Amino acid sequence: MSTAVDTSAIESTDSKVWDILQAEQTRQHQTIELIASENHVSQAVMEATGSVFTNKYAEGYPGRRYYGGCVNMDAAEDLARDRAKELFKCEHVNVQPHSGSQANAAVYFAALKPGDTILSLDLAHGGHLSHGLKVNMSGMLYNIVSYGVDRKTEQVDFAEIRRLAQENKPKLIISGASAYPRTIDFDTFSEIADEVGAAHMADIAHIAGLVAAGLHPSPVPTAAFVTTTTHKTLRGPRGGMIMCKEDWKTKIDSRIFPGSQGGPLMHAILGKAVAFGEALKPEFKTYQQQILDNAKALADELTTCGNRIVSGGTDNHLMLVDLRPQYPDVTGKDAEAWLEQAGIITNKNMIPFDERKPTLTSGLRIGTPALTTRGMKQDDMKTIARWIDRVLQSQGKGDAIFAVRSEVIALCDQHPMP
Ligand SMILES: *Cc1c(COP(=O)(O)O)cnc(C)c1O
Repeated sequence: MSTAVDTSAIESTDSKVWDILQAEQTRQHQTIELIASENHVSQAVMEATGSVFTNKYAEGYPGRRYYGGCVNMDAAEDLARDRAKELFKCEHVNVQPHSGSQANAAVYFAALKPGDTILSLDLAHGGHLSHGLKVNMSGMLYNIVSYGVDRKTEQVDFAEIRRLAQENKPKLIISGASAYPRTIDFDTFSEIADEVGAAHMADIAHIAGLVAAGLHPSPVPTAAFVTTTTHKTLRGPRGGMIMCKEDWKTKIDSRIFPGSQGGPLMHAILGKAVAFGEALKPEFKTYQQQILDNAKALADELTTCGNRIVSGGTDNHLMLVDLRPQYPDVTGKDAEAWLEQAGIITNKNMIPFDERKPTLTSGLRIGTPALTTRGMKQDDMKTIARWIDRVLQSQGKGDAIFAVRSEVIALCDQHPMP
């Protein structure tokens, strides 16, 4: 099988690593990737991240480095920053965060003192661990107050957020989520933050591609900080990024380096430049629209099969399936394992007000960015929804799962990875 970049040196020198790499290449090719936070990057992004840029130390920022020989590093980082600014229309951007969590941590260091209050979405309702999980640094260093979704609509309730903001006077209000299928009204978050003298940080890790394409409202005009990953819908290398207003520029940069990181991952930054270049092309908007069309088709067909989708549907790239009404005895953990045997990769996920433990859950999170990259369309979504339903109905019995497995491989063979 072809690999996306030349791996012949590994093949000839290290058979153990080669076997693992080949196995993963095959696994990705032969499975339908429905994990909402994953994607398949382009050959060009792979080449950048696998390039000589991995050899270079470049602590500091363009024009102000602590190492010699940084001329090409400066060019790459400037290009990544310029393209990010064009893409998101932001005043300032830092492309050095190693990950989304690092980006968030740097904002906290810039805007807060330990013990200050953060108002963020409850993890059990779709929030991210870096927004205040007890055993994450965010939860250890700051006082976390959570807002949830409304029991009936399963959507965020601004009356509740406003009440919590007025009662708790947070220094930072975080919008954005890891498992929230609806459009986020960032402007209202900014309004509430203004009312109580808080800063608003919008974390668009999941929806950055949709925002870049103009298919989801952007928080950039009103939020003080916008953080993101670059590897989810944005389809770049693994990494993070912070956008902010001009007046926060110096502080944000210093909280990334030297505040919380050493040398930037320059191969990843080169990859970010490539990915942002791709995202500026008209085809990227077509791709993002297809992600949305596919998510809607998948949610509709799952509903037709009798499944309950949390909040009744999706406005973005992902949905949450509530397994309880249709399959009361099936946990998210079972469902994830059975689907994986069939070659359909998902993740178990808490649904709002879930009564099962996070290690079991009553839900599945499903997203369409990766299979859309492989060129799958609405008709394929209908097929996949029916496969999911067949596997769930099988109660884990081998025959049905094996039957679906071979159909999955046949579909994958028609849709090569980039
Ligand atoms: C994925 C995600 C992150 C960060 O992810 P890393 O794994 O640290 O790169 C941050 N915030 C949200 C909302 C996310 O979904």
